[in-house]
Amino acid sequence: MTAAQAGCLTAALEIGYHLLDRGVPALTAVEQAIRVLEQSRLFNAGRGSHVQLDGVRRMDASIMEGRDLQAGAVASIEGIVHPISAARLVMEQTTHVLLVGKPASAFARHCKLERQPRRPSGQAARTSTMTKAWSPKTLALYRAMMASGPVLRKRAGKETVGAVALDRTGTVAAGASTGGIDMMLPGRVGDTPIIGCGVYADNDSGAVSMTGLGEGIIRIAVAKEICDRLARGERPGAAAAQVLKKLVQRIDGAAGSLVLAPDGRFVITHVTPRMTAGWWNGKGRPTVGDCFR
Ligand code: ASP
Repeated sequence: MTAAQAGCLTAALEIGYHLLDRGVPALTAVEQAIRVLEQSRLFNAGRGSHVQLDGVRRMDASIMEGRDLQAGAVASIEGIVHPISAARLVMEQTTHVLLVGKPASAFARHCKLERQPRRPSGQAARTSTMTKAWSPKTLALYRAMMASGPVLRKRAGKETVGAVALDRTGTVAAGASTGGIDMMLPGRVGDTPIIGCGVYADNDSGAVSMTGLGEGIIRIAVAKEICDRLARGERPGAAAAQVLKKLVQRIDGAAGSLVLAPDGRFVITHVTPRMTAGWWNGKGRPTVGDCFR
């Protein structure tokens, strides 16, 4: 973790906590904390998002609250800075849960969300040979990369962002926002916008936000599985450890989780070598680090 990332994470924790301290709902604290990270360019979300193999930045995000189980999400959204706010608008302004692709981008523009280029500057050289998403060259490159081993796990030092929070009314919320993984085929969508996989929130069990290789997280429906264990009385640490163990043993997955129970107990845990994260309950200074095993 760089000093800049540590500072940004601290700022996000402070903003989230101060909102909660003023009686603002957990959903807003989660959204605002994630907006700080999306804005920063320091993480793989919003302005800092990875691009897909055709050079286009397509982002995923979701948000959920635990009182009424309301949720909203966007997938493969382009050209905006704050996919997390688009997800919240889907939840609050539509009767749907998930909008995808160009119509999701049009929805965000209609809602006047701040814009950014679909294709970040500086990507042109890298992607000039890949502008046709399904050209033989793109597919050959993709196949060569996949054949060379666990490329999908290679991180570029920038991680997906997420947050969980508990407010004064006892409501929990969870959110996540990402630019996906390295070396994605155009149109690839991971776990982040899929409710029950990348995020889940239920006042009867808890709130979970995931990071890691979405292809594995989806197949175990990790966030919901952790919440189900919390509902059965397991502690956050035990619930997360069991599900992450299953992810590794059954499908060789790699992930990290933020898990918060409605009574305030929480755990940050990962089966990846590191995970940049932090927490704050208003006492002392926020804790930030990149190893919580
Ligand atoms: N879970 C995200 C995805 O698969 C990536 C990440 O968390 O780093 O799209």
